[in-house]
Amino acid sequence: MSQSTSAQQPSKEQSKWLDGGRQESGNLHAAESGGPRIVPNSSGHVATSLESSRIQADPCGHGSCTAPALAAVDSITDDDALFVRSLTERFMSNPAGDDDIRLVQRQLGRYPRGMVSVGARCAVCGAPFVVVTRPMLTDGTPFPTTCYLTSPEAVKAVSHVEAAGRMAQFNELLAQDERVKSGYVRAHRMYLAFRSELAGRLGDDERHIAGISAGGMPTRVKCLHALVAQSLVMGNGINPIGDMTLELISDEFQPGVCRCSIHEAQSR
Ligand SMILES: [Zn+2]
Repeated sequence: MSQSTSAQQPSKEQSKWLDGGRQESGNLHAAESGGPRIVPNSSGHVATSLESSRIQADPCGHGSCTAPALAAVDSITDDDALFVRSLTERFMSNPAGDDDIRLVQRQLGRYPRGMVSVGARCAVCGAPFVVVTRPMLTDGTPFPTTCYLTSPEAVKAVSHVEAAGRMAQFNELLAQDERVKSGYVRAHRMYLAFRSELAGRLGDDERHIAGISAGGMPTRVKCLHALVAQSLVMGNGINPIGDMTLELISDEFQPGVCRCSIHEAQSR
């Protein structure tokens, strides 16, 4: 998907963490119209070099972003592990229904392969903002971008921030601010932990994407869409750059304000 849109002047300078309670990470109760469609993969898949190059070429799927391949999955605190486990449970017990899949297909202009659940919704109309995608698609294709931003309004708003050059500023902030740096590392670890929980529940092999999270984590900022997606799925206080980006785009996109162009009742 293209994220090349006209640049917009940045609205304000960001140097702080957000206050709590910005958004809930998705109302999942309205989701189910169909039964679970998530079929565990058979074990033992090993990525081919073609698959590996596909991951590296466009890990976030929003353009030309690249992500670093890192070796190890580092540990997270017990509280964070508990949080990730309960998040996984929530999504696994609220699988994507037919209506959600249709809506996301219209948002993306393609079928959302490997969609596990809706990761975050518009608080007003219920339209999906983010989808949670399984670590390995049923044909064996590895899929590292577990939290994928689908809301056209959010994608566009984030693209404006990227086009305005904010990623360079975030990279500077990341290099200079120890709190942001450590928060970003934690976000990376939680992203991996979340995907591992999903992989365990679904029987997906994630060895070929071990250590690869999204958006450039943990050392660089390379795709704000991916970071915002994580912030929307996991809530405020997990991904500092995603949270700051959400604040930057609040004039264009807010989880609690419905600006959705694609609704359930509309035709295309
Ligand atoms: Zn809406």
